[in-house]
Amino acid sequence: MSALALKQLPSSAVIMLVSILGIVATFLVWHISMRSDIDLTALSDISWQIAEVDSRGRLVRLGSHPFALALLFGLVAAGCMTFAWGALQFFRLGAVGPNEIDERLSERLEKVGQELDDEVFSVVRLLKEHLELSGSHSESLAKVSSTLVASTPPERVRAIIQMLISENKKVQNEVRELNGRLQQSQQQIEKLRVSLSDSHKLGMLDAVTSLKNRHWLEVYLPREVTTATETNGCLSLIMADVDHFKRINDTFGHAVGDEILRRFAELLSKNIKGRDTAARYGGEEFIILLPQTRLDGAKNLGEQIRGELENKKWMHHRTGQPIGKVTASFGIAEWRQGEDCYALLDRADSKLYEAKAAGRNRIIADE
Ligand code: GH3
Ligand code: MG
Ligand code: MG
Repeated sequence: MSALALKQLPSSAVIMLVSILGIVATFLVWHISMRSDIDLTALSDISWQIAEVDSRGRLVRLGSHPFALALLFGLVAAGCMTFAWGALQFFRLGAVGPNEIDERLSERLEKVGQELDDEVFSVVRLLKEHLELSGSHSESLAKVSSTLVASTPPERVRAIIQMLISENKKVQNEVRELNGRLQQSQQQIEKLRVSLSDSHKLGMLDAVTSLKNRHWLEVYLPREVTTATETNGCLSLIMADVDHFKRINDTFGHAVGDEILRRFAELLSKNIKGRDTAARYGGEEFIILLPQTRLDGAKNLGEQIRGELENKKWMHHRTGQPIGKVTASFGIAEWRQGEDCYALLDRADSKLYEAKAAGRNRIIADE
């Protein structure tokens, strides 16, 4: 294998390869040393083998020295462990964890930001060039006006007019070019703005349910509390958690679990309107943020969602096997003047906990 090909392989693959070669080499050496046709006389003073001299004075191998055996097993075990570690690293390469998604997103944002910077810089440079050109044009005009007097002969006036026309054409061409370039820049900036906004949106969405995610909540929940404070308004929050979800996963598999999360998310989205937002808080926990809503309104909504979920009939999409009832518990709280978003979340969470303890499939509000 050439050095270049080796360089292109992930280091984990190289580790796997080397550990396999190591194991094979160990066995090879062992096998050769065990061959009966090898004359061990020369090795008689080496203690890897246990041997004795027979009646004809020949050295006969009795077995391997325990130290040699330990060394063999040690080498093979080390080879296997290195191989396993290499394999683990190798297969991890394909999987993308949340941190990697964050990294990719910030890389993308950085790239878009850099492109935006470059574009703005080039527009500023163009404008500067244009200003310089206009300056020199004004200078020529000033020069002309100072040379024109009443007694200027007509041929000279005609020449001056010709010169002015050609100067003007030059400026017109420059302006046309500048205009085209500015339009291009505007389109480019618009494209970058959309890309930036897409990345931003992508970072705020949950990949399984397409609802807003925890990141969104961290940004917007404090904002809603600030709005409620400034407008002296109201705000309620529902925290919902699917009951015995682990059991569903364990019985029907994670794919079914994911599908239930998606359907539950759809149910939440279907039941909210206007400024309300449903978000996935994490795992099988969801939050519904209800600006300008009092506790009673939130309780009604929670009850409606709970009832609809309870009455749904679930079955395995491929096998048709009945899944049984899926229920959820709800903790509800209304924001209180002066309270921050974490205190509001805490109160909803503790009511959710009470709903679980009271038997699940119910709503409990912080009255
Ligand atoms: P409880 O009624 O007390 O809420 O019990 P539970 O089983 O719903 O709660 P628990 O916290 O014991 O288990 C939650 C499970 O949710 C464990 C975890 O594997 C599973 N889970 C978390 N996120 C996902 C996901 O995105 N997809 C799937 N399929 N399962 C998930
Ligand atoms: Mg649960
Ligand atoms: Mg939970």
